[in-house]
Amino acid sequence: MKAFKLPVTLLLVISVIAASTSCSKQVAEETEETEWSMPSVITTSEGNSEEEEAQVEEETVPTPTPVPEDEWPQIELSGNKDDRITVTQNSYYEGEDFFLFAEEGVTLRGSAAEDIERIMGELEDLYDLSFDTNDHITGDINWRELYMDGDFGDINNDCYKVNIVVINDPHDGTVQWGHETVAVLFEQDLMFEDDENTDIAFYHEMTHALQLRNGRVSNVFSEGMAVYSQYAMCLNDEYPNYSTLCYVYDGLAWGDFSVEDIISDPEGEYAKTYDDYELTYLYGVRFVAFLMDTYGPEIFGRLCDAAYDYETQNNDIYALHDDPQLSIDVIKSCTSDDVFEQFSVWLSESWPEYGQTYADFLISQGVEVWLP
Ligand SMILES: [Zn+2]
Repeated sequence: MKAFKLPVTLLLVISVIAASTSCSKQVAEETEETEWSMPSVITTSEGNSEEEEAQVEEETVPTPTPVPEDEWPQIELSGNKDDRITVTQNSYYEGEDFFLFAEEGVTLRGSAAEDIERIMGELEDLYDLSFDTNDHITGDINWRELYMDGDFGDINNDCYKVNIVVINDPHDGTVQWGHETVAVLFEQDLMFEDDENTDIAFYHEMTHALQLRNGRVSNVFSEGMAVYSQYAMCLNDEYPNYSTLCYVYDGLAWGDFSVEDIISDPEGEYAKTYDDYELTYLYGVRFVAFLMDTYGPEIFGRLCDAAYDYETQNNDIYALHDDPQLSIDVIKSCTSDDVFEQFSVWLSESWPEYGQTYADFLISQGVEVWLP
């Protein structure tokens, strides 16, 4: 938020507090009796003449004591899923394991906090990982400047809780994204409709936050888990999201992707993902499904811990992200030396069922599905 918006923000916050608490009313009454002067930021930043300043002062008296700059407007959520709350200025909400920052104009459900907590819990259960860690946090990303005009001071600057940033879709090619400190999403991603596909991006980006807060294995691992979350959650929660099918059904994937290439050279194709971003999703979801099926959910914590140990011992947080051989070695150390050969066999024997299960699910939900 820019400086000139600040006075409006403060005044609105103060008026809300004054209207709702007896304690603040007392503050307001006291202020009436004392000589209160407008903070210089209000008069100078709005560029008012002295005459106008006097007018502003007159109109806003009695004015309560100004609140500190870091008391940003907070969102009040009713808890009722039928309520819609439109945020009239950049505002935030503090949840148990997250901060929600909403851009001016964003509409939220009254039950947004409960829905967020529920899905975060589902993701933690799926991978046996916890959001509640900041051991791996290296510092906040510049989302305040990018999307919020620099608002919110140092709220949750240490990223002890996940920052969920909800913005209006600018329709300029901006996409949702996630990182260990933040998930940036659009308003529609947090509608949490029971019967529509509005949660997919939320599952996806929050999985990035969950995974990266625990350790950095590789992009293929990160995107693989994010797409696997889509797959698992769509089935569990009966969200018939069509685009997920293209990730999991062999023959529907885009580009020149061929599952046969992975089967014939699983380790070489893993390394190839480092230069082929789209392959990270397609290889990744298959590899994550294999790990889940073969080793169970506890493998994800083991891998993240091993990656974290490596990066701290070598003082290079992106070591495994930069060098496929290092992440291959860490994966083998947590599983077995022939894990990629196992993966290859599993891809031929077990994977097709995953794609078919998802296709059948879509069909059962009345979705028209074209299969090769
Ligand atoms: Zn992703």
